[in-house]
Amino acid sequence: MAKIKPVNIGGVVVSNATLHNEDEILRKDIRVGDTVKIERAGDVIPHVISVDKSKRINNSNKYKFPEKCPSCGSRVIKEFNNQTKKYDAVKRCTSEGFECEKMAIEKIKHFISKDALNIDGLGKKVIEKFWDLNFIRLPQDIFKLNYNKIETLDGWGKLSVANLRYAIDQSKKISLEKLIFSLGIRHIGQENAKLLSQSIKNYENFSKINSNFNFNTFLTIDGIGETQIKSLKKFFSNKSNLELIGEIKKYMIVKNVEKSASGKFKNKTFMFTGKLEGISRAEAKSLIEKNSGKILSSVNGKLNYLIVGDKPTVRKVNQAIELKVSVIKQQDFQKMLD
Ligand SMILES: [Zn+2]
Repeated sequence: MAKIKPVNIGGVVVSNATLHNEDEILRKDIRVGDTVKIERAGDVIPHVISVDKSKRINNSNKYKFPEKCPSCGSRVIKEFNNQTKKYDAVKRCTSEGFECEKMAIEKIKHFISKDALNIDGLGKKVIEKFWDLNFIRLPQDIFKLNYNKIETLDGWGKLSVANLRYAIDQSKKISLEKLIFSLGIRHIGQENAKLLSQSIKNYENFSKINSNFNFNTFLTIDGIGETQIKSLKKFFSNKSNLELIGEIKKYMIVKNVEKSASGKFKNKTFMFTGKLEGISRAEAKSLIEKNSGKILSSVNGKLNYLIVGDKPTVRKVNQAIELKVSVIKQQDFQKMLD
């Protein structure tokens, strides 16, 4: 964010303008103390268009971006994104596990968040407070809280502590899918956590994963690629992460993944292209899933059937033919269902 001398643009006094990121600052050669042209469009945060170099002071300083994490001193890097074939714009701390204080706090916040353990009454602010008081350093510390101590804190009483205790107890029963998501493994969001849990099946299998595990077995899962495998390897080669997974057994009950149904499309994968007749995509998808089939998001070697509707994407059809995928019409698909 650029802090600029307040200026009135179309009736709004602007004193901040976004600089986006390091690459953008370098590209536009924006320096400390520069005079800049800014633009404000709609409700978007004003942004810097260019620098008026004629007004630049002599020996102006370029912005220096940290080479080390301001929190823990680890090296920071820009990751290479395999999808875009570009380096990320943001730098990240290379620390894994909980050695980096700022990252540890955020990991605990993620652990208890709505889509993870979902603990009512344990919000981000409370986590920060408990951290400052040295009550928590690791996610599993949530289960070791001293409630008597909490009761003596400002803003807490018998009832709120009882509620917190209840909410934490409630969170101990969890699905494997949510547990995997809650660990905050980079590139493993809700969808990937679900896919992984279906492949891993139960906590016992999960707890056996370590750096010796053959992570490439996950490559057969549609949606899991090199990026995710790399991230999983990094996560499971860290001692604190393995300790966390080991300790979970003491406090939590992880439900097994229910056996997958044995519908007629078991182990079969489908994809659509073009408009279907008399049925929406969503309905067709749910029909496939009800019969234990799977929907893929791209034409690849794992695809079994490409269902072609009206005005299909020619590229997808050609790709499918090339990969010897069965290209079928909607009527054929309906026959399969019957
Ligand atoms: Zn760090």
